[in-house]
Amino acid sequence: MTINRAGFLRRSFVIGIAGSKFKVSRPRALAKILPWVVVGYSLVWPNPSSAFYDDLCFASQGAKWTIANCLANSSPYCSITNDCVPASCGANPASEKNLTCNEPVEKSFPNGEQDSLYHPRSMIHADSVYLLAQAVGLDGRAAYFIAAYGDTPDRAGGQFILMVSASGGGYTPYEDPLHATIALPDLFRGSALGSAIHFPLFTGNPRKIVPDSIHEGISRLRSWALGDGSGNFPTPCLGGLTFPSRPDLSYFQGDKCYVSSSDYSFEGGAYHINQSPNVSISITIPGGASSETSFQSGDQPFSGPSSKPFSATDKTEFADDLQGLLNGSPAKFDGVHPVPLALLKIGVYLHSLMDRVSHAPVLTPLTVPTTSSSSNFTGAIDWIIPHSYLHFEEVGIPTLSSRTETALSLAYDELALFAKQNPEFMAPHPVITAKSKVVPALVNSVLNQRSAAARLSSLEKLSQTLGYYPLTQPEPIVAPPSPPVRPGCGRTESGSDTCQ
Ligand SMILES: [Zn+2]
Ligand SMILES: [Zn+2]
Repeated sequence: MTINRAGFLRRSFVIGIAGSKFKVSRPRALAKILPWVVVGYSLVWPNPSSAFYDDLCFASQGAKWTIANCLANSSPYCSITNDCVPASCGANPASEKNLTCNEPVEKSFPNGEQDSLYHPRSMIHADSVYLLAQAVGLDGRAAYFIAAYGDTPDRAGGQFILMVSASGGGYTPYEDPLHATIALPDLFRGSALGSAIHFPLFTGNPRKIVPDSIHEGISRLRSWALGDGSGNFPTPCLGGLTFPSRPDLSYFQGDKCYVSSSDYSFEGGAYHINQSPNVSISITIPGGASSETSFQSGDQPFSGPSSKPFSATDKTEFADDLQGLLNGSPAKFDGVHPVPLALLKIGVYLHSLMDRVSHAPVLTPLTVPTTSSSSNFTGAIDWIIPHSYLHFEEVGIPTLSSRTETALSLAYDELALFAKQNPEFMAPHPVITAKSKVVPALVNSVLNQRSAAARLSSLEKLSQTLGYYPLTQPEPIVAPPSPPVRPGCGRTESGSDTCQ
């Protein structure tokens, strides 16, 4: 498809399922799926579609890395030292419609996609979450894995590489194996399987963002991370779409993940279904081109060949296999034990929750088609604010969009609940900071700084003042020294005693 880039001020997307093979023995259940739109436009959007975009980019200059904004003053559109977005541009309707504001933003937006070149990250998803996790009393090592897996869904290669302060100044990739993270490419926003992590589905009010299980697809990820209230932690589904166990329940509330294809018998109890694309998405742009793409439902895969349909030969890892991958990683949460899956779960869930807030102004709730009962999912997305500019408003300008504070506030609350449920991750002597003391400070003295270097140094200062580690110098993970070898015994390569 081609998109007329000059026409990006207002775009509307219409989405539906074509050629559905939905087979169900309960007509009332079929009717229940009508009020949905399935969103997958990141598949066709010509630009990267991050939410709370990657604002920090690191540029290699020999052995040294320097920091810059990914947008606004980064190559190739602008000089790396030259901020080419006029200072008057802000988070307001006038700026959103002003081409001199949003054109340089739009053109430099792909910088955040250059993982190996710039090691980009989002200060909202990564650095801020690291601070908030410590503010609710969590150990700095637990907070690190929450932040790292919280930023991972935006990594094109599926893997988070942290840039930390270098000893001689500047920054350097963090190579400590104890802090290593596993790759989760199926969560990436550019994949058919990861789209709904970043563009969460919902049926309620776009702006009323409470992770309730009736209206919000992210509720499934929330239950996976925080439990469903009855002691269960159900496995995640693509888009949170489930097959309701009773026709009167929301399609976000079923036990098993939703599939429409008759190739997979849902009632037969198939395990881990990841359909070939079963949701056809048509996109129309007023006065411009239109296109179709597709979206998958089924169980959410986390790692594996993201572009292929499910088959017996695919080495796809689903939610309940992830602890095995973590066990095989060199990372050790406390220097000894593998990273607990719980930390990855809350990180990924927070990413989706915060993206829900970020994309709220452009996502339209799922609606019922009135013309044909055989249609499945239809609806529209009203692209009111140019996509890149939507995210430019959220970090790095003097007056930020209220979305930033809303997302951080929700993240704080969910982290506080996580800390309460998982006291084993609390710091030995927790220093707890009230939300009112940390979230406004982040918004008004850190994330609103125009310069990337100033944002990062303000964050370091705030962290230090509150008694926490900044992500540029995370809490060290130290492996305990091996006990002395007993007389007459040797030591194996793995460090154990041969007399054991
Ligand atoms: Zn976006
Ligand atoms: Zn995202």
